[in-house]
Amino acid sequence: MRFRLDGKVALVTGSNAGIGQAIAVAMAEAGAEVICAARRAPDETLDLIASAGGRGRPMTLDFADPMAGQGAFDEPVDILVNNAGIIRRADALEFSEADWDAVMDVNLKALFFTCQAFGKAALARGAGGKIINIASLLSFQGGIRVPSYTAAKHGVAGITKLLANEWAGRGINVNAIAPGYIVTANTKALHEDPVRNQAILDRIPAGHWGAPEDIAGSAVFLASPAAAYVHGAILNVDGGWMAR
Ligand code: NAP
Repeated sequence: MRFRLDGKVALVTGSNAGIGQAIAVAMAEAGAEVICAARRAPDETLDLIASAGGRGRPMTLDFADPMAGQGAFDEPVDILVNNAGIIRRADALEFSEADWDAVMDVNLKALFFTCQAFGKAALARGAGGKIINIASLLSFQGGIRVPSYTAAKHGVAGITKLLANEWAGRGINVNAIAPGYIVTANTKALHEDPVRNQAILDRIPAGHWGAPEDIAGSAVFLASPAAAYVHGAILNVDGGWMAR
């Protein structure tokens, strides 16, 4: 039972596809009611949740406005997963201000202010909660041709630790997951580039890319009572990449 989420309400951003979809389904399987937040209808995710015998409902949340999460916690939410994210690729010499701002807005500004809105609501009702931010290997490493993504994901790691310092004593666990190379729309360009794909595979001790489902179990764990004493951690789920 320490790994169950029965009676809890979880809100997962960007839950219509990829890693967010897998986390939403796994949390529903673990017993949570899942608010599938997305900028477009998360019908596929809701169907998967229903097929698994779980409970889910949609919420429109578009971080084109990074403050869009402000109204998301008018009803009680116990678990927040900040998963929505974008990436823009270009050489540093050519990187545009637009690609800087777009990624920083969705991946970092929206993440922080959604955490803040969740924290305000949880503390106002005298409740605790769990926040799980989706970081990246580029929370630790430099990456190539992704300056705003690397800056934002380093920021996600820092903000996760800052919020853990401020809120651990107030009953809110703030942690992050750093996924390795997972096959989704986010990594399509790398996965389909034979040279980059082989270079990536050569460094993964597990010998293969991950699937979105590979991230979901860690998210359920961090949301569960079993992780009650875990604060400010950034959990690598990367097939061993960071061990190399
Ligand atoms: P994905 O399939 O592209 O999913 C990204 C999600 O974010 C989608 O649901 C997307 O919605 C949503 N999103 C993008 N912009 C948004 C906005 N303005 N408002 C609301 N939602 C928005 O890619 P993914 O790999 O699952 O990415 C999920 C998270 O994992 C991201 O934070 C990413 O940085 C992180 N991550 C991924 C990997 C990897 O290898 N795949 C590795 C490390 C970290 P749409 O479908 O409408 O675009």
